[in-house]
Amino acid sequence: AVASADRSTISFRQDRSPQVLRIGCAGMLREAGGRPHQAFAPRPRFEVASMTHTALWAQLQPGRADGWWGVAAAAGFLLAIGAGVEVFRRCFKQDQQLRCQLAAAQERYQLLAVNASDIVLLVDHDGQVRWVSPALTPALGWRADEWLGRDLGDLFVGGTGISNVASGSRFLPPAEARTGDGARVVRTRLRGKSGRHHFAVVRWSPYKAPTLGVDGVAVSVRVVDDEEEEDRQLLERRARTDELTSLTNRRGALEQMRFLDRSSPPQTAVLWCDIDRFKNVNDTHGHATGDQVLQKLAGRIRSSLRSSDDLAARMGGDELMVVLHGVRTLQDATDIAEKIRRFAAEPIETAAGPITITLSIGVTLAGPAEAADTVLARADSAMYQAKAAGRNRVVAVPVAASPISPSSLQPCSEQRSG
Ligand code: GH3
Ligand code: MG
Repeated sequence: AVASADRSTISFRQDRSPQVLRIGCAGMLREAGGRPHQAFAPRPRFEVASMTHTALWAQLQPGRADGWWGVAAAAGFLLAIGAGVEVFRRCFKQDQQLRCQLAAAQERYQLLAVNASDIVLLVDHDGQVRWVSPALTPALGWRADEWLGRDLGDLFVGGTGISNVASGSRFLPPAEARTGDGARVVRTRLRGKSGRHHFAVVRWSPYKAPTLGVDGVAVSVRVVDDEEEEDRQLLERRARTDELTSLTNRRGALEQMRFLDRSSPPQTAVLWCDIDRFKNVNDTHGHATGDQVLQKLAGRIRSSLRSSDDLAARMGGDELMVVLHGVRTLQDATDIAEKIRRFAAEPIETAAGPITITLSIGVTLAGPAEAADTVLARADSAMYQAKAAGRNRVVAVPVAASPISPSSLQPCSEQRSG
């Protein structure tokens, strides 16, 4: 539409929205004398909002518009409204963007907390659970809502051990568990819903959320039953392993001896080995070289075993024991002992050069229903017989022989190195 006045020519057109008009001075305004008013023409276009077509028309009525000042005032008014609308539009857009970012961040954190395998709890300063992540259920069996409003201490076996110090962060575990970032970590046990106790690493850190007007302690819990079991097994293995040679130690060997199968042939044979004049090795080459000799000898003995059921153990000092399962006769056991004796007598490479040692070995079989101590004592006695007979040899004693009095033992096989 085009509006005309006697002293001015103004064109404007209406956009699709009735609230938005686009107005511009497409022509020139003329003053009463007919002289074109250069300053006003042509003007850049500007956007106008929030003014209806009718309102604008009323502003531009020929009778009202008193020369170009009236038009300029109307245009200025519209320009001001346009600028205001633009500012409002930008603010609104910015606000929308911030809201979107906030919502995305919230969603991300919620996804993390809800999907993490660690249990996350928010606890107030009195120790009451305010929020708990769904990981609680697979880890400990509880439903999350069963813990809302409950005292977190009830989840811990024997309480939390948390000091209720009257400070900003009262609900915290002992200070010695503090980490570098101000959080504290404790290893503890938690109650599962089934009544089972679970090992867990619990991390505490105070939090403050001023916008929400809350603060308290954020607790994350990692259930470590598997790791704990591994640690336990490792400790058990260590308690039964000789540190120097990695063979089973005396304690482990005696435990295994308790479960010997002593029913009927094939049966169990025990070989008791002692290094001859080992003190001389230490005295001549030093203790460290003696250690190397012990380590390499242990390796040789281990490699002589035929099955994984057989056992090689260090019973203390320079005494080693071999337990062989499935041996048919004492002679078979003696043959194996002889092989070990020969292998041990080959030069051992050490930092101090090659060293040759020899073994005295006592051999016996485990009799039916015989106590492990009795069998070991007999093998030990046989070894002493080998020493007494000149060392570097194998002496075998049958089950019937008494272990108490070595003089009564009758070697059933005695072999000397050649
Ligand atoms: P024999 O057995 O032939 O009578 O003489 P031996 O010199 O071997 O005497 P015995 O078996 O009684 O002594 C064992 C020696 O083993 C004593 C010690 O010097 C040495 N020994 C024991 N444990 C270790 C060890 O862990 N490392 C080293 N290097 N030597 C050890
Ligand atoms: Mg010795």
